[in-house]
Amino acid sequence: MKEITNYSIIIPGSKNSVYVDTIDGKVLLLNNDYLSEKKDTLSKIDKFEIKRIFDSKIKSKEVIKLWLFTTLNCDLNCIYCIQNGSKIDKNETMSKKLIDQTVKFLDYYADETTKRVEIVYFGGEPLMNFDVVQYAMSHYNNTTRRPIVHRLITNGYSLNLNKIKKLSKLGICDVQITIDGNKDIHNCRRITKSKKGTFNRIKSNLITLLNETEQTQIIIKTTVDKSNKDSIKEFIDQEAEILRHDRIHLDISMVEDINHMPKGDLYMSRKEFSEFYEEIIYYVYKLGIKAVPPHSGGCNLNYRNSIFLAPSGIIYRCPSMVDDSKFAAGNIYNLEFQDDKYNGGSYISQECMACKFLYLCDGGCKYNSIVYSEGNKNYEKNCHYNEINRDLYNYYAAKYSKYLV
Ligand code: SF4
Ligand code: SF4
Repeated sequence: MKEITNYSIIIPGSKNSVYVDTIDGKVLLLNNDYLSEKKDTLSKIDKFEIKRIFDSKIKSKEVIKLWLFTTLNCDLNCIYCIQNGSKIDKNETMSKKLIDQTVKFLDYYADETTKRVEIVYFGGEPLMNFDVVQYAMSHYNNTTRRPIVHRLITNGYSLNLNKIKKLSKLGICDVQITIDGNKDIHNCRRITKSKKGTFNRIKSNLITLLNETEQTQIIIKTTVDKSNKDSIKEFIDQEAEILRHDRIHLDISMVEDINHMPKGDLYMSRKEFSEFYEEIIYYVYKLGIKAVPPHSGGCNLNYRNSIFLAPSGIIYRCPSMVDDSKFAAGNIYNLEFQDDKYNGGSYISQECMACKFLYLCDGGCKYNSIVYSEGNKNYEKNCHYNEINRDLYNYYAAKYSKYLV
């Protein structure tokens, strides 16, 4: 029997309760009598044990995650991108020569503990450099000695039949596509350079993706702020038949204020988002749709297995740092990578180390802490304990509602 600990949340039902371990993510259905017996003795993990587990997670190379910014350019002109005022040179694209070099880098960087390599094709819009995406997938399949998982994060606009067939043949494992609400709202937010809506084309590409693949998992990312929150329910109603597909997972998240850009009244506070999430997640499961658990991302900067590669060959440790050379952590052409630069662990406070959500929240965004608080362990400012607690509670209560009656 798995040991139950204080690093958990418990959702009580009339006879049974759902127990969620916040360290390994395991979910158990436990009898209430058993739980009340264990209540006083619910094993407490001491701070030394937590530090040991956390340190080994930080240092692990079991799964290496290589994020390829195949291009920084994009074929859309979404409103939140326009507002973020990025200074990135969007004309940079990744070359095949750089992909060749990543194979050498992976051989150099992986070690005997590495069981798997995950490649995330990212951008900008990665399909704008599809030639290199195809080349990379084929090259990794043929050259690397470890199992490879290919992931694609795309706006879905140019994901046509031809590309889908090629991706499927090369073994794409999962595809994330963003749809930001019902047709009208999505068409106001996610527009082409010539200001045309993209909903119909993305939906049609999504259906093709479902029809032409058998194993590929699809994440529909819906990013919420004050301007689209009221349309999400309608979107879910209208598209329920597609969203219910067994390979689709809905990821509802808020527009994050990572870069502290001018935002007017658009963004929701964490509290506002939690209130919205509580309303929507029960509805999602009521319609038989699956959702991605909230707060499962954590902070990449804590872990040395996350590598973000810009088209220039410069390596970064966080997506917000990409193409800001002062944050460079290495260069792939020289096989250099300072994998402990800005080590997140050193920004984690004692309070966070003792928090049951440490493994989900990682003590908040270190980039914000470095850039805006001069590296202070300013956990009070970034702490959203109550909202994390509420979101997780609602997610698991909605997902396992039939076991809780
Ligand atoms: S520092 Fe912030 S933006 Fe960077 S990986 Fe961590 S959470 Fe994400
Ligand atoms: S920031 Fe708050 S929620 Fe996150 S680990 Fe620290 S105490 Fe926990």
